[in-house]
Amino acid sequence: TGGEVLLKVEGLESSYGRIKALKGISIEVRRGETVALVGANGAGKTTFLRSLSGVQPMSGRITFDGEDISKLRADMRMRRGICQSPEGRQVFGPLSIEDNLRLGAYTQPKAQVEGDLEKIYAMFPILKEKRKLPAGTLSGGQQQMLAIGRALMGRPKLLLLDEPSMGLAPLLVEEVFNVVKALKAQGMSIILAEQNAFSALAIADRGYVLETGSVTLTGTGRELIEDEQVRAAYLGM
Ligand code: ATP
Repeated sequence: TGGEVLLKVEGLESSYGRIKALKGISIEVRRGETVALVGANGAGKTTFLRSLSGVQPMSGRITFDGEDISKLRADMRMRRGICQSPEGRQVFGPLSIEDNLRLGAYTQPKAQVEGDLEKIYAMFPILKEKRKLPAGTLSGGQQQMLAIGRALMGRPKLLLLDEPSMGLAPLLVEEVFNVVKALKAQGMSIILAEQNAFSALAIADRGYVLETGSVTLTGTGRELIEDEQVRAAYLGM
């Protein structure tokens, strides 16, 4: 942590028709940081991540790796290293696991793809074992690993994880958070949006609490876990 600023978001707004879902969000991510984005269902976490990756119309300023990318399309943002594992995984069920992974590399030079596949397979042996099978045959937890693997195939400088623990049994939730920890240990910069606030804050360097489209609180993961309001509202304490 303590590193240079990788991502700076200033006054980001986004609307669905006349409904303003994000009302001026400002956050920062430093190189190598894991930043948690917590908040209730509907607070705007997904809209924020989609605004960052460029698949959701937005206004405001996004500076990434020293460049203003606010006006760039999603594929150009991906080429610069913003790669997302979307809410609900969104793997392509009829396609093989390996083809799903290859899709994550569509912006990348062909020459590196085979080597990168092997790295993903080393990280997730189950995906290698099943690589020829349709992705739809995987369990929920395995599909989540595939969604993360697919994002990694884009060689992210910043990895966006949207609710990776959603809908998973407790043991698998733990497995997913272990994957996030491992990526963090490798130096990856990560934004982790989670309703599972405790687990997210426990591994995050810093966090932001989102409420109805605004940041209401920020601090280190530990500060937020110990905050009375956070404990009452999100940690069920
Ligand atoms: P969740 O974890 O359920 O995705 P969230 O914190 O990610 O919650 P968003 O999905 O970003 O929240 O939703 C933010 C606000 O935007 C909510 O009020 C939601 O109802 C609204 N919203 C989200 N998607 C749409 C849409 N496609 N059309 C209209 N309103 C939407």
